[in-house]
Amino acid sequence: SRPVRLSVQLYGYGEGRKLLLARDVTALEQAEAMRRDFVANVSHEIRTPLTVLAGFVETLQNLPLEEDERNRYLELMAQQAERMRHLVEDLLTLSRLEGSPLPSNNDWVSVAHLLTRCENEARGLSNALTRKQVRPHVLNFPDEAALKHAGEIAGASAELHSAFSNLLANAMRYTPAGGQIDVSWQILDDGTARFSVKDSGPGIDEKHVSRLTERFYRVDRSRSRDTGGTGLGLAIVKHVLQRHGAKLHISSAMGKGSEFSVTFPVTRVRSSSADATASLL
Ligand code: ADP
Repeated sequence: SRPVRLSVQLYGYGEGRKLLLARDVTALEQAEAMRRDFVANVSHEIRTPLTVLAGFVETLQNLPLEEDERNRYLELMAQQAERMRHLVEDLLTLSRLEGSPLPSNNDWVSVAHLLTRCENEARGLSNALTRKQVRPHVLNFPDEAALKHAGEIAGASAELHSAFSNLLANAMRYTPAGGQIDVSWQILDDGTARFSVKDSGPGIDEKHVSRLTERFYRVDRSRSRDTGGTGLGLAIVKHVLQRHGAKLHISSAMGKGSEFSVTFPVTRVRSSSADATASLL
């Protein structure tokens, strides 16, 4: 029941003979509309920090300021510049992911390494927040014994790291201080594997869930910006997972937190070599 857009052309040829050519241009027009939206969004996202920056520059040029105040302005300017840098980096990452297929000779990436790196980064972020007098999150990661049997994923290590750490960073950014975040990894009996980040944050209304991976889609614009979000994180996650044949599942309920889980197909999962050795003995 979706409306279809047709492009119709009528050609006359021969004696009174006519040819009617109808083309379905629905998809073409949708793609064009998406492209226009994207350009408008990018322009807006860049214009906002630029306007703020230009405002500060003008103030610094025209007002005699005390050193303290001047430094505060410079700090705010640095934040805006950082925000633009982050946005441009995310845009480049997205365009790289869209522009090239995953190389077929994938490496086997150690999940223990991936998770340890994510955990160190998360604890670093949490410590930085604590220094600002905010209660740290309770972070639960698989323990050392579980990591020994975490196995490997076939893929691009940097991409997988960016997908996992994006999900983790979101959980930390949207969950208020002192909330709980559980990260888990499981190789299931059927050989598939599941990575999950569960938080005790605000949750996401059902009507937004299916749109979260769209570029620049945000439930709460100002909250996303305040926490340094570009609105591109989940779009990057989606692309990385698609390239790895993995699926993202989001389950969330308002007031009850969210769980973002990723399922890897059996062809991309290898249980750890420690296991293999054990079974040989
Ligand atoms: P952003 O840079 O805005 O975080 P993302 O693409 O990473 O962009 O996420 C899109 C939107 O999804 C966010 O703006 C936020 O509204 C919502 N979101 C993502 N993760 C969570 C979470 N763990 N809890 C609540 N909302 C979330």
